[in-house]
Amino acid sequence: MKCWFCDADARGVCIACGRGVCYQHGHKLDQFTHAKSDTSTGFASFFKAFNVLKCQDCKIEWETWEQGKRIIK
Ligand SMILES: [Zn+2]
Ligand SMILES: [Zn+2]
Repeated sequence: MKCWFCDADARGVCIACGRGVCYQHGHKLDQFTHAKSDTSTGFASFFKAFNVLKCQDCKIEWETWEQGKRIIK
């Protein structure tokens, strides 16, 4: 697999979009949290991953949920 951004061999895959990224175009995140929430019950579950790889195009926004409501900071 080749890097999405250049022709180098991909060293990993972006966790958000799934595109291949080389060492230069990949960005390491210490922590990635994916939240799934059910608004009818107010119950939220979280998926956490550590030391994940992300490409330069993807933006991951952090969200805070409290009692089923999204808190915008
Ligand atoms: Zn590249
Ligand atoms: Zn990506």
